[in-house]
Amino acid sequence: MISVRTVTFAPNHPILMADLALYRKYRPARFNHLMGQNHVQKTILNAIKSGHLSHAYLFCGPRGTGKTSTARLVAKAINCITPDPEGESCNQCDYCLMMNQGSLVDLIEIDAASNRGIDEIRDLREKIRFAPNQAPHKVYIIDEVHMLTTPAFNALLKTLEEPPPHAYFILATTEIHKVPDTIISRCQRFDFRRIDQETLVDRLRYISQQENVEAEEAALELISRSSQGGMRDAISLFEQTLREGKLHLSVVQEVLGLVGNEGAIHLFSALEQKETSLALSEIQKLHEEGHNLYQFNREFLEFLRARLLEDLEKPEKVAQRLYWIDLFQKASVELKNTLIPQLPLEIAAIKACFWGQEQKNESWFSGLWQHKKEEPAPVTAPSSVSAGPSPLRHVASTSSDALPAPQEEGLKQVPQEGPSLADIKTNLPRVIEKIVTPSIRQSLNTALLHGLNKNVVQFQFQSKFHLEKVSSNTGKMEIESALETVFGAKLKVECDMSQVDNLLNKTLEIFGGELIE
Ligand SMILES: [Zn+2]
Repeated sequence: MISVRTVTFAPNHPILMADLALYRKYRPARFNHLMGQNHVQKTILNAIKSGHLSHAYLFCGPRGTGKTSTARLVAKAINCITPDPEGESCNQCDYCLMMNQGSLVDLIEIDAASNRGIDEIRDLREKIRFAPNQAPHKVYIIDEVHMLTTPAFNALLKTLEEPPPHAYFILATTEIHKVPDTIISRCQRFDFRRIDQETLVDRLRYISQQENVEAEEAALELISRSSQGGMRDAISLFEQTLREGKLHLSVVQEVLGLVGNEGAIHLFSALEQKETSLALSEIQKLHEEGHNLYQFNREFLEFLRARLLEDLEKPEKVAQRLYWIDLFQKASVELKNTLIPQLPLEIAAIKACFWGQEQKNESWFSGLWQHKKEEPAPVTAPSSVSAGPSPLRHVASTSSDALPAPQEEGLKQVPQEGPSLADIKTNLPRVIEKIVTPSIRQSLNTALLHGLNKNVVQFQFQSKFHLEKVSSNTGKMEIESALETVFGAKLKVECDMSQVDNLLNKTLEIFGGELIE
């Protein structure tokens, strides 16, 4: 089975390492171009203008948020001889040009994560005493500084304690908690934030225009959401999903693994269509084909998570996805202990198919079976084509914790059109609660729930006053709307005097009396 790729990336993920040409091309050349890190930008520009740059900076924050780009801008600013009044480097002097070409030997970039990086730190202390070769200052950028060994940290600390006037340090890390306090306290620290989605989309749109790319807006948005606030990831994914100068949502989905394995797709589509028996057959099929259902459930959860991220803008979808994820998360716990491997998935699938109904009526499942007793439906045989034990029968006969169900009955007869009389009886207080006008609420409170005829709910009253109140157009409308809110079904309201009361009224008429309450 092909596994479903998740939407987030581990550092150095091949997807992200492959395409960085555009990222390099659009790397900020000025502080002004730095995206989403205004606090860093302002403070550093002020320091440059006032000539008070620190000898040691520590940049921390998530990957791809501009730490290394900023470090290079600072390095350039340290050596630029003709900065503009805003503090931006001129990009014209010899040092700026060498920096931009990557040929300035006095900029030393060390990747602490590589073995070579450790060695470089070791002889850093010796070399740092020598004057710079070309530029006025030597700048050391140490990336992923948290990866240094203890001896290397000690060597670095000694250097930071008494740096030569010509030396500057910029340390960058994604894991600040792994950097010793002694190092942190020697540096001016900046926390880089995740870049917000709007800024990412704006930047991608800008690059699209510059590169003459025809980009679907939804594709840009999906890329931005998947990049979790990282500009590098966003641009890299953008570049990787370009096809002949076009950016299509479908390609982005494909590359992100939003198109998962067949089993996950089939189950998902059955749930979307609320096809319970189809969903159960799919689970049974996976079981019979010998798939590990625990593993499948993991992949299915990843698939659902991808769908959730994809649909973040649609509140109704988000609620549904969260509900489903919750169901299948629970299933994964139960899958470890179940005697019947299909059962936890089947329960989750059944509940998922009834999304929308269960939320509107917590007692929906119990109401389901009461309803059936009142209005028996013809029993339909389970539709599974397999020769083995039917998945439908498993559910009905063994999942008594989830469904207070009668034994050995299929689910096809489940009526789905509306609540039963018992449902309405149980939930009448909730219906009354939902009524806005106090007088109508009070009047309905005095009513007797008399019956349910198809979709007509019948109430009886002992008082003409309350009957008239509820029978008014507003009264009926309010009650019908409250019924719909609680049960998710369109129901009509019919009101009548109760027989007992009619008799009383007749008596009063005959004897000309008056009812004293
Ligand atoms: Zn310059």
